[in-house]
Amino acid sequence: MELIFTVLTLFPKQISDFMETSIVGRATKKGLLDIRCVDIRDHADNDHGKVDDTLYGGGKGMLLACEPVYRAWNSVLSGGDVKPHTVYLSPKGKVLNQDKVIELSQHKHLVLLCGHYEGIDQRVLDSVVDEEISIGDYVLTGGEVAACVVIDAVSRMIPGVLPDASAYENESHMHGTLESPHYTKPDEWNGIEVPEVLRNGHHAEIEKWRRLEGLYLTYKNRKDLFEKLELTPDEWAYIIQREGQKPREMPEI
Ligand code: SAM
Repeated sequence: MELIFTVLTLFPKQISDFMETSIVGRATKKGLLDIRCVDIRDHADNDHGKVDDTLYGGGKGMLLACEPVYRAWNSVLSGGDVKPHTVYLSPKGKVLNQDKVIELSQHKHLVLLCGHYEGIDQRVLDSVVDEEISIGDYVLTGGEVAACVVIDAVSRMIPGVLPDASAYENESHMHGTLESPHYTKPDEWNGIEVPEVLRNGHHAEIEKWRRLEGLYLTYKNRKDLFEKLELTPDEWAYIIQREGQKPREMPEI
């Protein structure tokens, strides 16, 4: 087994549907991933399955209480020998990126804690969580979709889940840029042709075109990533030619 994910959630079905599907589903069947769910409600400390309560200090909404979350987390510990790395999915966390995905894929066991309603009592977060991760600067209704995002992205980095490393090593975000556009047959569709360079079979030229188009796309769509790159004069020249004008960021060359 390469990597175990244990999701602590109030809505296990959201996770189980996802884990049976597509590449993640196949990797689970092959034994490369083991995705488990712990229903926090099963760990309620009362007979009614109540796991939340109102906020101290006032305010709308309910908060997941410490004890059921702690019990659910503890139930994971009692089963294993290595302490799992615990991630709380939260809009207050550091935003997930590919470097973090690669880092997470080095763990043997990830516990993904999903909040709901207003979130989770801070005291239990302080007690069990190793890091908080957000999947973006917006607020979801619960952490389950975010947990699926983490599982999906991390799983792709586990050997055997994708056919081989070449399936991901030139993809967007692996080296700080976006990937170039792709095309498939036919050569012409609705009067739009596939770029000539991709059809001439000249491997070195194709590689060069892909690298330059990836840089151009990064320039157009992700200025935050582009600003971190150091371009050669040839690369700048390509961007100027694609843009049809001098980009503002271009240094004197
Ligand atoms: N009151 C919280 C706040 O303003 O920061 C938002 C709580 S949100 C409605 C409920 C749960 O959804 C959170 O506890 C968290 O687990 C999950 N969640 C919401 N947005 C998220 C995001 N961007 N990334 C990861 N998890 C998120």
